[in-house]
Amino acid sequence: MLISERLRHKRPVFSFEFFPPKTEEGETSLMRALERLAPLEPDFVSVTYGAGGSNRVRTLEIVSRIKRDFGIEAMAHLTCVGSSREDIADVIDKLGEAGVNNILALRGDPPKGEQAFVVAEGGFRYASDLIAFIRDRGGTELSVGAACYPEVHPEAVHAAADLAHLRTKVDAGADFLISQLFFDNARFFEFERRVRGAGIEVPLIAGIMPVTNVSQIQRFTQMIGATIPKSLEARLIDADSDPQEVFWTGVSYAAHQCGELLRPPGDDPFDRPPRSVAGIHFYTLNKSPSSRAIFQILRIAHTGLG
Ligand code: FAD
Repeated sequence: MLISERLRHKRPVFSFEFFPPKTEEGETSLMRALERLAPLEPDFVSVTYGAGGSNRVRTLEIVSRIKRDFGIEAMAHLTCVGSSREDIADVIDKLGEAGVNNILALRGDPPKGEQAFVVAEGGFRYASDLIAFIRDRGGTELSVGAACYPEVHPEAVHAAADLAHLRTKVDAGADFLISQLFFDNARFFEFERRVRGAGIEVPLIAGIMPVTNVSQIQRFTQMIGATIPKSLEARLIDADSDPQEVFWTGVSYAAHQCGELLRPPGDDPFDRPPRSVAGIHFYTLNKSPSSRAIFQILRIAHTGLG
């Protein structure tokens, strides 16, 4: 099913993001994670596209397996990095042949060791160009998502410009948006208000990463410009020497965070405006136990189903 279609009929949606593993051991552990995830019936699973388009083939392989072997709806990430229009057209066609009709269209990050994004010969500069190209090729047979940044994309000149560029992506044909990871809901709600104020009406899915490793999360947030609330940082520093404690801190914080994001309209003692978060996208880093635990908690809270 197209993700756009699913979003028309079901809220909230829950999705999980994985990356193509580089080793056989990594592949075995990814397959095990998918086996455990499949019975929980997530709305979709997505597979990232390596910086530099290096593991393009791996993304295709894994996303096809998710759909074929696990019966889970799948979405392939696709970037502009190092690819001409012909390369991209080829990937879109191969995805179609594998029955994968959902694409997250991104500009992409520069390959390791390179500072800036460089337009490939015959390729695209912005995600909006890629989205228009995919739409041209796939028409309404495809569902196309795009990325958005509650705390502003690090290269954007200012927040208003970033928002205007987001609008261009939606006008080019993005059906839904998935946010960069964030920990501070207040920042997300402020972003959501600005998005809706700019006339962007497509579903907005919140990107959540349960913390499982303190130094890793500090590195990530610095790289993407996300804020770690002081209270969470203090809890994580306290827990740092005990991996179990970090796990529980990460799970309980993210579960709370999702609970607030998904609070239904009218369920707010302070009568704040209803939220319009369409779902939760878990950044799993291929370690899914904490995301699965949170998913179960949220399903019980929202549907009564465990
Ligand atoms: P764009 O929307 O093109 O924006 C890039 C920058 O250009 C922004 O600062 C924007 O404000 C600016 N801009 C856009 N249009 C214009 C314009 N017309 N004129 C001037 N400036 C403009 N990266 C990967 O390599 N592989 C992945 O699989 C991957 N998956 C991701 C999944 C999600 C949910 C998210 C949020 C990010 C993901 N990324 C991935 C990271 C993403 O590729 C980077 O954040 C990248 O730097 C920007 O991609 P974008 O699609 O948002 O780019």
